[in-house]
Amino acid sequence: MSSVAKSVARFVEYGKKIVCVGRNYAEHAAELGNVVPSEPMLFLKPTSSYLLQGNPIKFPPGCKELHYEVELGVVIGKGGSDIPESAVMEHIGGYALALDMTARDLQDAAKKKGHPWSKAKGFNTACPISTFVSKDSVSDPQNISLWCKVNGETKQDGNTKDMIFKIPTLISYISKYFTLEEGDLVLTGTPSGVGPVVSGDVLTAGLGDLVEMSFTVK
Ligand code: MG
Repeated sequence: MSSVAKSVARFVEYGKKIVCVGRNYAEHAAELGNVVPSEPMLFLKPTSSYLLQGNPIKFPPGCKELHYEVELGVVIGKGGSDIPESAVMEHIGGYALALDMTARDLQDAAKKKGHPWSKAKGFNTACPISTFVSKDSVSDPQNISLWCKVNGETKQDGNTKDMIFKIPTLISYISKYFTLEEGDLVLTGTPSGVGPVVSGDVLTAGLGDLVEMSFTVK
């Protein structure tokens, strides 16, 4: 791949993994009856779950309760493993807004059986993603509002300052287990207000005044 084609702005085309953090906002953990974790809780979505604007979000087979979760995505610009917290900013290439779409009923069933969440979190269309947000345009990634509306009604209205584990801690921790590569995406958890959608709903989400996106549920 040429260096031109491999611009980090096109991370969706070549990134190898999406590492997600669960329960990283206290109010959201509480609304689902989960305890706040003592260390970051990680899961993965395959990159086949990416969904670009203009394409519909689809219910996976067997799912009757599909939830939105708006999240700040951090795009890795320089790979590494065992990245110290103090060096994390050098490894960030930019940001994106994402919806961590979750088949909540499939997830609840998996939790009860002690099974993994892969189907509930990684199905096709489970990761609607915005356009790339350059690193330069974000003065403080730990103080950006993020919101999600369903059919124009505000459902989530949070701020990244309320993350339990902040971005340097998350990326440093993740890099101890998974070598992070250029183009990888880290989803940093969702604020409170998650809920279900039905076919025909329009989800709109925004990150400060940096980016906005819209997806229809089919
Ligand atoms: Mg999430």
